[in-house]
Amino acid sequence: MTQPTILNGKELAQSLESSLKTRVSAIREKSSGQAPILATILVGDDPASATYVRMKGNACTRVGMESKKIELSQETTTEQLLAEIDSLNSDPAVHGILLQHPVPSQINERECFDRIAGNKDVDGVTCLGFGRMAMGEDAYGSATPAGIMRILDHYSIELSGKNVVVVGRSPILGKPMALMLLNRHATVTICHSRTQNLADIVRQADLVVGAVGRPKFIKADWIKEGAVLIDAGYHPSEKCGDIDLEQASEKCSAYTPVPGGVGPMTIATLIAQTVEAAEKSL
Ligand code: NAP
Repeated sequence: MTQPTILNGKELAQSLESSLKTRVSAIREKSSGQAPILATILVGDDPASATYVRMKGNACTRVGMESKKIELSQETTTEQLLAEIDSLNSDPAVHGILLQHPVPSQINERECFDRIAGNKDVDGVTCLGFGRMAMGEDAYGSATPAGIMRILDHYSIELSGKNVVVVGRSPILGKPMALMLLNRHATVTICHSRTQNLADIVRQADLVVGAVGRPKFIKADWIKEGAVLIDAGYHPSEKCGDIDLEQASEKCSAYTPVPGGVGPMTIATLIAQTVEAAEKSL
């Protein structure tokens, strides 16, 4: 069989970032030197979340944007977090708001996500933004699935009429992913922890999205010959994703590597959506 195509998210993210630099410069020129600002809110002391927020801040710097970092204690209440979001919503210098998931368990995360103003919901986390995306209206998609769509489009992966299986149904990943693919005329099956005969369902897929959160959970013998594999999982200690890519890459036609696939495009998409929000605000 011919070698599979590596869907190089890292390279694509670098090229997207270089085009964003130009757009950020244009925004600065039109706003007396003021750069677009992404506000990031980190609640608590989860080291992985802190790393993700830092990576997003670094990406802002690379494209000439600014980030405003809000760090709140592990004991923060829903009311305190809502007050922070209200203050960012009313700050005209802030163009996008990212509330890093997950927040500590005493906080009502859904209520806080939904408090983010629609025009600043650059990570597509509000119910309204999700609904608008699902209906094919203008809305910022959740950054990970939106980044995956950019990868699929860049590599001209055909979606119309294809059998797609999304394993995972979280609000930030599996569910919006399935709807984005459905909107592009794929025949979509969503699987989750109660799904029966998962392996047999995955065997029908022309394209598989791994969004489970378990290392190498999707096995090579579940993969149809020639399928496209999108691995959204990332497990730093095991250095792998949710699909057993080492074995499965021999059978597939294309795959996103881990690392260097979905992760960099998630960040670049978040930044691109913030730049778009800043352009709209001019
Ligand atoms: P999550 O909220 O924990 O959701 C996991 C999903 O997998 C749930 O829908 C769950 O089903 C399903 N699941 C769990 N066990 C299963 C099983 N045995 N069989 C079938 N389905 C099962 O996770 P998430 O936030 O969506 O993240 C998923 C993965 O993507 C993680 O590895 C995470 O690190 C990664 N991720 C990467 C990025 C990035 O930037 N690259 C961004 C976000 C997430 P139920 O709904 O039934 O519980």
